[in-house]
Amino acid sequence: MSIALYTLGGTIAMAGTGAQGVVSRLSGADLTAAVPGLAEIPLDVRDVEAVPSAALSYRQILDLVDAAGAAVAAGATGAVVTQGTDTLEETAFLADLVWPHPAPLVLTGAMRNPTLAGPDGPANLLAAARVAAAPAARDLGVLVALNDEVHAARFVRKTHSTSTATFASPNAGPLGHVIEGEVRLLTRPSRHSPLPPVDADRLAATRVALHTVTLDDDPALLDRLAAGLDGLVVAGFGVGHVPPPFAPVLGALAERIPVVLTSRTGAGSVLRHTYGAVGSETDLARRGLIWGGLLDPYKAKVLLRMLLAGGAERAAVAETFARRG
Ligand code: ASP
Repeated sequence: MSIALYTLGGTIAMAGTGAQGVVSRLSGADLTAAVPGLAEIPLDVRDVEAVPSAALSYRQILDLVDAAGAAVAAGATGAVVTQGTDTLEETAFLADLVWPHPAPLVLTGAMRNPTLAGPDGPANLLAAARVAAAPAARDLGVLVALNDEVHAARFVRKTHSTSTATFASPNAGPLGHVIEGEVRLLTRPSRHSPLPPVDADRLAATRVALHTVTLDDDPALLDRLAAGLDGLVVAGFGVGHVPPPFAPVLGALAERIPVVLTSRTGAGSVLRHTYGAVGSETDLARRGLIWGGLLDPYKAKVLLRMLLAGGAERAAVAETFARRG
């Protein structure tokens, strides 16, 4: 049994003092040194990047998925990725969309850097390694382990800017917990089949934006944003509503590119057929917007970009969101 460990940087790997602030610079060897209990799990450590997670790209994550996939195909029991927490809900979902293996790929990070009292990185790394090694974690796709909780990539959100309990799955709850070192999974959601691989250049050229509507918002801003876009995600109010002047603008856009409607609330689904006013979910559906379901705006943006990079037309995009949303 061995676990492939990939390091990408983030707070878990930060060091430094004084006015300059901390930066990602610790290696996998630094991270794994002196974590009580970790020596029981054989790790094959590969340092990939040492960056804040705001600097990561789809390309880097898909390359990492390929590398981790090769490691499990060659016999590793599972794989762990350490990275910054800021974009972890997106990178985990992206990896989950394409991860085809029964072995778990587990992402983790830290909220308190190693220079602070009570850094959470060592405990999170140990928990992630235990999840990656656990037979019970097989066939669940990409998982996120922090704060001794196990979350499915497709449900997990970063919900707090500083709390060590920031990761939560508002629509589903955690899949399980790590208790006295034992991985206890309470529920096993069924998996969607992985998306086919996408061409890296086509992915880089696929432009998808996210617009969050706000009170008294100006649709002219959207018009400017939309030039040159291949797809748009709208984070609407509540169950999927926008200010009335947005409705015709979004309708015109939806005739040209896929426009996916999600909720800016942080939990729950956009609706399909409850409200009837201009700018409501029924009005927007009539104008051609695609229902985003339970997917939050960030995950919807990841899925839309991957689908468009894979050559999907509007009907296929709508059908995929109907199944996965
Ligand atoms: N800004 C950091 C990052 O995402 C935060 C973290 O690691 O928790 O890299």
